[in-house]
Amino acid sequence: MPDNSQVSTSFSELNLTERDKKVIWHPYTQMKNALPHIPIVRGEGVYVFDEHGKRYIDAVSSWWVNIHGHSHPHIAQKVAEQLTVLEHVIFAGFTHEPAVLLAERLLPILPGKQDKVFYTDNGSTAVEVALKMCLQYWDNKGTPKTKILAFKNAYHGDTFGAMSVSGRSIFTDAFNSLLFDVEFIDLPDESNISNLTSHISNLTDTACFIFEPLILGSGGMLMYEAKYLDELVAACKKAGILIIADEVMTGFGRTGTYFACEKLIHKPDIICLSKGLTGGTMPLGITTCTDEIFDAFLSDDKLKTLYHGHSFTANPIACVASLASLDILLQKETLANIKRIEAKHALFLQEIKAHPKVKAVRQTGTIIAIEWETGNETSYLSNLRNLLYAYFLDKGIILRPLGNIIYILPPYIISDEDLDYIYAAIKSALEEV
Ligand SMILES: *Cc1c(COP(=O)(O)O)cnc(C)c1O
Repeated sequence: MPDNSQVSTSFSELNLTERDKKVIWHPYTQMKNALPHIPIVRGEGVYVFDEHGKRYIDAVSSWWVNIHGHSHPHIAQKVAEQLTVLEHVIFAGFTHEPAVLLAERLLPILPGKQDKVFYTDNGSTAVEVALKMCLQYWDNKGTPKTKILAFKNAYHGDTFGAMSVSGRSIFTDAFNSLLFDVEFIDLPDESNISNLTSHISNLTDTACFIFEPLILGSGGMLMYEAKYLDELVAACKKAGILIIADEVMTGFGRTGTYFACEKLIHKPDIICLSKGLTGGTMPLGITTCTDEIFDAFLSDDKLKTLYHGHSFTANPIACVASLASLDILLQKETLANIKRIEAKHALFLQEIKAHPKVKAVRQTGTIIAIEWETGNETSYLSNLRNLLYAYFLDKGIILRPLGNIIYILPPYIISDEDLDYIYAAIKSALEEV
């Protein structure tokens, strides 16, 4: 093996940010004029620390994954134990305790009756599997349906299938001509719900409806009411359209209940999970389904098999991290924290919603979004986003505005003091930025 130890010494005069710039291509980043990437050396609770010891409050749970805070001792201990027992094994032809136990513990707490767990690596692949399950379900039944229904402004991931069912945006622009056709509908409200449901009742060749329940995350934290979603789901079920709930962001307590679909009477056929699943420790994706879906793949005909699987399917370390995260989630204290954050958030929004620079405020569970007034100046808009991002970083807070929308999506262990500090920073930003 070549000796690589020289590489790090030859760069030793450079700090981590400079070494990064030489060799790394960062996600969602225009590398031409990117700000220097901040070198994080340690995480503890809601904080991450850079190499100069500066502390940042992780107010977005590191892209919505870190629900219990960083380097949680319970998760760390379980992962460390598993590493010395079984780090990985092929999941075709073999199984292991962490994968089975996680499915046994997870299925009963999911909304509705979910019967089977299919493991993948992340949110996008969980969505890919959900789409394949639906499309092949109809094919296996001998009644192929290929149309898919989704929301405008939806976000379901960055792989091609997931991009196709996501709203067309700057994220998909370079690939639009290659994405498969999807019918996009408006978010439901009082004014359009009856039009939407009657439209759905006329659809005959639609395989499935995929949605982010209650809140469209990357689309701008756009929120809508459970009762209207429930009506859409009911109309789909009547029209023989399968239901995929993408709970990748909303799962594991984020919207105030363990899963957002708990607020629906009509339950999904398929649920996608990732982000909070391992407590933000490592990647893992899950697609669950009912026996009705699963049974359509049972056959002596090999072509009816679901031919999908990733190298790291059901990685035991990731499963153990998920089990440990579930231990913490199901403690009474965690639900109390979620309720505490919800109540504090609501008071804060009351306080600022009349501010002239505030165009709109929204809340679902532990998430709040504040839309900044921009006066329709779109060029100012992207600049405003960067100004706000830098303003909060300077104050030791990680907030990543989506355009002119600031949102807080904190780890559940965040203290009242840290929430107050973030609120105060937003209030001063309203005056100063
Ligand atoms: C983030 C996200 C995804 C994609 O998950 P990745 O792990 O980033 O691939 C899919 N659906 C929703 C609702 C998400 O928020």
